[in-house]
Amino acid sequence: MNNKYEAVIGLEVHAQLLTESKIFCGCSTKFGNPPNSNVCPVCLGHPGVLPVLNKKVVEFAALMGMATNCEIKEKSIFARKNYFYPDSPKGWQTSQFEEPICENGHLDITLSDGTEKCLGITRIHMEEDAGKSIHDLGYDTCVDLNRCGVPLIEIVSEPDMRSPEDAYLYLTKIKQIITYLGICDGNMEEGSLRCDANISIRLKGETELGTKTEVKNMNSFRNVEKAIAHEIERQIEIVEEGGRIIQQTLLWDADHEEVSPMRSKEEAHDYRYFPEPDLMPVVVSEEWKAEIAKNLPELPEARKARFISEYKIPEYDAAVLTTERPLADYYEKVISVTDDYKSASNWVMTDVLKIIKEDKVDITEFKVSPENLGKLINLINNNTISGKIAKSVFPEMLKEDKDPETIVKDKNLVQITDTSAIDGIVDTILDNNPGQVEQYLGGKETVLGFFVGQVMKESRGKANPQMVNETLKKKLEEKRTGE
Ligand SMILES: [Zn+2]
Repeated sequence: MNNKYEAVIGLEVHAQLLTESKIFCGCSTKFGNPPNSNVCPVCLGHPGVLPVLNKKVVEFAALMGMATNCEIKEKSIFARKNYFYPDSPKGWQTSQFEEPICENGHLDITLSDGTEKCLGITRIHMEEDAGKSIHDLGYDTCVDLNRCGVPLIEIVSEPDMRSPEDAYLYLTKIKQIITYLGICDGNMEEGSLRCDANISIRLKGETELGTKTEVKNMNSFRNVEKAIAHEIERQIEIVEEGGRIIQQTLLWDADHEEVSPMRSKEEAHDYRYFPEPDLMPVVVSEEWKAEIAKNLPELPEARKARFISEYKIPEYDAAVLTTERPLADYYEKVISVTDDYKSASNWVMTDVLKIIKEDKVDITEFKVSPENLGKLINLINNNTISGKIAKSVFPEMLKEDKDPETIVKDKNLVQITDTSAIDGIVDTILDNNPGQVEQYLGGKETVLGFFVGQVMKESRGKANPQMVNETLKKKLEEKRTGE
């Protein structure tokens, strides 16, 4: 980025809430049902019907507000946002406008250079989703209204972000929090989490805001970062060439990595907001607020801090393990079986996460149960098997989630810690390799590695490596002193 300028970015994030039923009627929110099967007169906007607010939606919105340090308003109001489009049979979207349920929040992000940044959240409000227009079935346009009335929250940030990285980290944090709360699955590719960006640039030191553009249609985290970077560059280029930024809505084209303006007709909206006459103001009393707060789980930041202080694992480990709530739960189940917190962290961060990434499975579907992983770690720590053997037991556990102790017994992998057995193998190896013994005694101590390798091979990996090392050194020294 040309360093004469700074970017000013604000994000609007829509999150689809994981309620069983829609926001104003009892229809199912289940995804994937046949088109227009999750519908009723209310969400189809028939005349004379009355909406009834789903209590869960209020609770989820308030939870998100609490998790992002917002003020939860005692009274908030629904409004009609009027527009005419086939995906909205009522002719308006019921949303919140002047009086949203949550205001004045913030969340902190940590940049890659370690600096912390506090980003403001202007508001969080509740609203309903629209239906879906389908253009590719060979007819003109079809419409599926199953999504009509599915509850959303919209989280609007302050224009506090200054770089694509800020925006990426903010969005990552939002996803982490909503999934910890269990109120949204956070899947951007499938559209349950959507993000629009308002972007402007100004000369550094300037305090006035420049003309902004709104970029839509970014359906992955990486696309958000790329699209914002692209739009900042585009605006700088225009200004540098003496041009002027036009306020407009742009669509991100991920395939060609460029933006194109939405047709002006589509964006020429005058929503004529007015208060929804069919819904009472939403009142969240102090008692209800306290009730809702009881459902607030331990959030990622707090959990990370506890992992560091309680389990004495490095900050890096704690950050990785608490990225997602199910992963943190998995780790805590492992250490309910073993008290070797650091080994458990190593196993989860390397062996477990590697397979999860490769096989693209969810940790909740991971083949090896946390209890059995804990048992495996204990088998190493009580010298039943070596760390090396453990790495060969783990793939067996992946095939079938068996108790590692059974696998070790069945496959006869128990570590040899019997002194006389190890003595015997060491003697054989030394007798069979007089040349290497000469070399060692002549001062070439690196030959020790060769002997260790031979003993381990002879014992098929089962000899206790530490004992092998000690025995070899002892016996070689005996040869040196001629005992
Ligand atoms: Zn309905």
